[in-house]
Amino acid sequence: VSVTAAQLWCELAWLGGDRAERGVLVEIADDRIVSVTTDVRERPSAAERLRGLVLPGFANAHSHAFHRALRGRTHAGRGTFWTWREQMYAVADRLQPDTYLALARATFAEMALAGITTVGEFHYLHHGPGGVPYADANEMGLTVAQAAHEAGIRMTLLDTCYLHGGIGQPLNGVQRRFGDGTADAWADRAGALSPGPHALVGAAVHSVRAVDPASITTVAAWAAQRGAPLHAHVSEQPAENDACLASYGRTPVEVFADVGALSERFSAVHAIHLTDRDIGLLGGSRSCVCCCPTTERDLADGITPASRLRAAGAALSLGSDSHAVIDPYEEARAVELDERLASRERGNHAVVDLLAAATNHASLGWNAGRIEAGALADLVVIGLDSVRLAGADAATALPSVVYAATAADVRHVMVGGRWVVRDGAHQSFDVPSALRSAVAAVWSPDGNPAG
Ligand SMILES: [Zn+2]
Repeated sequence: VSVTAAQLWCELAWLGGDRAERGVLVEIADDRIVSVTTDVRERPSAAERLRGLVLPGFANAHSHAFHRALRGRTHAGRGTFWTWREQMYAVADRLQPDTYLALARATFAEMALAGITTVGEFHYLHHGPGGVPYADANEMGLTVAQAAHEAGIRMTLLDTCYLHGGIGQPLNGVQRRFGDGTADAWADRAGALSPGPHALVGAAVHSVRAVDPASITTVAAWAAQRGAPLHAHVSEQPAENDACLASYGRTPVEVFADVGALSERFSAVHAIHLTDRDIGLLGGSRSCVCCCPTTERDLADGITPASRLRAAGAALSLGSDSHAVIDPYEEARAVELDERLASRERGNHAVVDLLAAATNHASLGWNAGRIEAGALADLVVIGLDSVRLAGADAATALPSVVYAATAADVRHVMVGGRWVVRDGAHQSFDVPSALRSAVAAVWSPDGNPAG
């Protein structure tokens, strides 16, 4: 669908400052914002009135779409990250391109309804059962990118290198579906990816558990050559740090630093169990740290020292990761509130810093996440008339949304100049019904919806 031009008059919009602006006229041509005018008191007759608060689209910088099928199945009860991982592997084992397409499409549509306009999909489910490649070795990557396209959001496909079942160990069981054998073979396959104009290709290193330092060097060089984002799981669990120190005599962050992987294009996902030196390395290199607090608390991972990282110079982004919930407002406030519980101090992060993290598209390689001329026309309109937000005004709209909004408060979502969500409804399909049948298909014995 091509969009020619549109004028939107926002009652309130966030343009990056510490409070919302009143009467903002946004002009859009094709997929870009071409002008932003503040202090426009009256709606011009040609402009559509947007009631509520208009924000730039949110970036979900860390996602594994298929984990959505685990919701409600793994969150209660006991166990650890490592027992959760066994349940996650059970889903990975069952997925084929058709069931994966349906599940990922519905999951990305749930993201669109929450105001997410770009997803960073950390994709490692590359091959068929037993690790046998599909006829097109990129079939699964193309499938997940297609799912985002059909759900109406853009994607950075973070094609993930995954070579070992643990440091010095072979891939085991379902992990064989993740592996390309060598980093060079990964680079050849990822280099052939061409997922379409709505998607960028970036690189990912699963973790220091799954990729040795020499292979990390290869992946980092591949990303550097292309100026592409490079993401990695880093220090999510103490056991990863222990194994890394025992094998390499260095922390995971030091392993990445020593091969030259840290830069503004690098995102360390989780980055929880860090030394002071790790914080200095991430900050000094202007790396990004992707916080996934709703997943991290579900998995009892710990709390990212996000305020110290930001003070050291790191950027922050947010991810819903395992999709325990898909709610960028909950993710944003958890960064602050979790640190309050740990530090017993308030105000570790300003509201605008949390919004900047929630809209950080740079870590995914897109010029979006800001309402300004030249940026992609990705917008979220949040109604301020629900019981959660009623009473918010220009002065209180930003903290109200960050601390009290939920995904259910999203009224309209625009991606690249095109409305994907209107009046709280996805424009392409019935998302709850799509989720219901996609999740049922994953768990039914024959791979078909149970009805
Ligand atoms: Zn992850």
